[in-house]
Amino acid sequence: MPARIIDGIAIAAAVRADVAVEVAAYVATGARAPHLSVILAGDDPASHVYVSHKGRACEEVGMTSETIAMPATVTQDEVLAEVARLNADPNVSGILVQMPLPKQVDELTVMRALDARKDVDGLSPENLGLLLQGDPFHPPATPSGVLEMLRREGIDPAGKRVVIVGRSVLVGRPLAMLLANKAPGANATVTIAHTGTSDLAAVTREADILVAAMGRARAITADMVKPGAVVIDVGMNQIEDATRKSGRRLVGDVDYGPVSEVASAITPVPGGVGPMTIAMLLVNTLRAARGS
Ligand code: NAP
Repeated sequence: MPARIIDGIAIAAAVRADVAVEVAAYVATGARAPHLSVILAGDDPASHVYVSHKGRACEEVGMTSETIAMPATVTQDEVLAEVARLNADPNVSGILVQMPLPKQVDELTVMRALDARKDVDGLSPENLGLLLQGDPFHPPATPSGVLEMLRREGIDPAGKRVVIVGRSVLVGRPLAMLLANKAPGANATVTIAHTGTSDLAAVTREADILVAAMGRARAITADMVKPGAVVIDVGMNQIEDATRKSGRRLVGDVDYGPVSEVASAITPVPGGVGPMTIAMLLVNTLRAARGS
């Protein structure tokens, strides 16, 4: 039987609808609407698209947002000055620094400068350190999106074997920490696999829940998946496709067709984890505004 498709678009819409209700209730107390400030430095076309999506998502749930555009020639001091100004502004609930930054600006230095309470991306060293201790101000959006997806699909990771392929600071590592937490919706036994893992297929076949966060198109094949496993595909890879007008197509890290014949549930790409990331950014921005 083919796997159940986990519909990230619908789940993200449900999360956003819940956020909209909570924003309305918050504003009804006389508070200002949560406000997200996005620093966008340089002219990376994909970053401009992502930032415009984030701004629109804020408006749809009743939040306000602004984009602070800085030229590709911006200096590190100029970015740091902007971060300091936003940190100090009581009308700014959340700050997001869109990556990548121009090469003359050190990303880690900028992330270090963010007030962790306003770091709604959850990627500042302080938030990642607090995540390790089990209680960040804001968990990173994509990993917390994966947990929220599982929760809303009724898939409880507790007691399960989870294998995450990928150990990036953005996805793999924080996701492993969240899933291993002694907490509802987590409490899993987690393995992190990477390019140094020997016999990757043997490791992935142990997974009750398999998460691919590799950035390698269709690298997880059906023989690497235990029958009945839940497969979460974080990957977003552009491949050539002559049948498309653009000549390109987005695929995940999972060989979707064959794997969906083996798995019990699977996220598609597009329409899986991707939409959850922005939804969880909104959750974090609301939390930043309320201070809880
Ligand atoms: P990344 O920083 O490039 O990390 C990739 C990880 O996968 C690394 O740890 C790497 O291992 C591991 N890896 C790569 N090829 C492998 C292989 N053949 N076997 C085993 N491990 C392998 O990527 P990322 O930022 O985590 O992103 C991963 C994917 O998720 C990308 O496609 C990205 O576009 C996507 N993504 C999606 C969202 C979303 O909203 N859906 C958000 C963020 C990222 P080593 O450490 O050994 O090199």
